[in-house]
Amino acid sequence: MRKPLIAGNWKMHGRRSTVRSLIEAIKQEAKHFQHVDMAVFPSFVHLPEVEALLSNTPIAWGAQNLYLGENGAFTGEVSGPMLADYGCRYVLIGHSERRTIFQENLELIALKFQAAQAAGLKPILCIGETLAERQSQQTEEKIAIQLESVITKAGINAFHQAIIAYEPVWAIGTGLTATPEQAQDVHAFIRQIFMQHNHEIGSTMPILYGGSVKPDNAEGLFAMPDIDGALVGGASLEAKSFLGICEKISFVC
Ligand code: PEP
Repeated sequence: MRKPLIAGNWKMHGRRSTVRSLIEAIKQEAKHFQHVDMAVFPSFVHLPEVEALLSNTPIAWGAQNLYLGENGAFTGEVSGPMLADYGCRYVLIGHSERRTIFQENLELIALKFQAAQAAGLKPILCIGETLAERQSQQTEEKIAIQLESVITKAGINAFHQAIIAYEPVWAIGTGLTATPEQAQDVHAFIRQIFMQHNHEIGSTMPILYGGSVKPDNAEGLFAMPDIDGALVGGASLEAKSFLGICEKISFVC
């Protein structure tokens, strides 16, 4: 049985006051969503605020990125142990915005995945194809490369403590969502890759879908057998839509 997770990626949004009001609104409703794990991913600077507000609640938090190692001369970077120090449970690794805008390559992403685990954080490894790759029937090839590069580096057993987020690049922040069937096909493919390495990891691996998930398209996605929750960007910035998505997954459990 895989417990669903709804994760809100706040990206580079928010101020202390809006973070506070968003958290308070989500917190008030959390008791209605006991069958769902909920987590928020604020910017680094908002982590102390989020930790103070969410400690001793069922809602977890994580970071959107990290750098390698523990300490060092890496101006502007934040390490895994620093995130653990602020109570982070998760960290996003390989989000498409990191891969494209910040040119993170397969090697660096695999190293970041390992750095997260070394700090006791659970990586949410984000993978997905571009529109051009989908249109040229390269979706599966692209997904396999993104997964195998981390499996080769970290070893399959590392995935006992990891989550996958399938996020088609063409659906992130665009308002275009994969249909439930399109998403399910890729989720099943991802699960099959893990199954081939290790049956138990394949069957228990939580695989989230991300890409313009909203309350009105969530139910169809969550009805699919291999979709175990969502990584939500834009719709996680308002309590009403974030909770609306959490409500939809409760219906299908
Ligand atoms: C994301 O940032 O991971 C994401 C899926 O964004 P959005 O929901 O806005 O498409």
